[in-house]
Amino acid sequence: MSILVVGSVAIDSIKTPFGQRSEALGGSATYFSMAASFFNKVNIVATVGEDFPKKYIALFKSKSIGVDGLHIARGKTFRWKGWYDYDLNTAHTVYTHLNVFKDFKPEVPRPLRKSGCVFLANIDPELQYNVLKQIERPRIVAADSMNYWLEHKKKAFERLLDKVDVLLLNDAEARQFSGESNLVNAAKFIISAGPKVVIIKKGEHGVIYFSKSSHFIAPAYLLESIYDPTGAGDTFAGGLMGYLSKVPKINEAGIRKGIIYGSILASFAVEDFSINRLLDISMKDIKKRNRHYR
Ligand code: AMP
Repeated sequence: MSILVVGSVAIDSIKTPFGQRSEALGGSATYFSMAASFFNKVNIVATVGEDFPKKYIALFKSKSIGVDGLHIARGKTFRWKGWYDYDLNTAHTVYTHLNVFKDFKPEVPRPLRKSGCVFLANIDPELQYNVLKQIERPRIVAADSMNYWLEHKKKAFERLLDKVDVLLLNDAEARQFSGESNLVNAAKFIISAGPKVVIIKKGEHGVIYFSKSSHFIAPAYLLESIYDPTGAGDTFAGGLMGYLSKVPKINEAGIRKGIIYGSILASFAVEDFSINRLLDISMKDIKKRNRHYR
């Protein structure tokens, strides 16, 4: 089952207590597709500007990430600048320059409209909705968001929720959206708004899965050195959806296994800046860490 992702493809500038990078490859769709590409073919729907380095497009292609839906527009690529303190769970945004995303009207190429596995990565919920509308009967739809959109586009986000099977949010976003400080109550509120499953990400403390009738807690893989937590959530989603795109039937047991794969992929992503660490691992490394985790 092929995977389609809509989200940001970005140029990031990041500072953590362990170093900094400017003008590095980032974006929610980028991290997601790099992770999911270990499992299956992924196609990106997004836009970049004319300044987007061609070498990154070649990189996507070399990982079998489809770029037919990656539109090159006049103008500048989306840029995000952020920093982290020693509490690496909280990203502080310096700026978000939407640039070419401001006028982006996503057109999903016809052959991709039959994608079975759809991930609406963090981007304007109106764009997420617009892309989802173009897909014919997807088998599973998962979505992510962030405080920026929950604050600026809450109504559009609520409209989307009804069409989503699995929603991923971090704990602060789940609290922000639900108005509940307790995460069990926040999850109940979110499930009543549409999704069958909500996965609340708690950074280095792992994730909590909630459905209407059950829950499951998966700790993060314990690491000695973390350099840059950017993209951990998107990478997690890539591991989860990548795994689910391979199973014959999607059920709770599969989602639980997918959550473990997501956690493993995310643990690699944070070991270096940008997507660098994901570039030097193979499925063998992922399976090895998976066995160790279990
Ligand atoms: P994460 O750390 O998983 O939340 O994702 C980080 C990535 O999200 C970075 O590479 C940014 O380029 C991207 N990003 C930051 N802010 C936004 C936003 N408002 N919309 C879409 N993507 C964003």
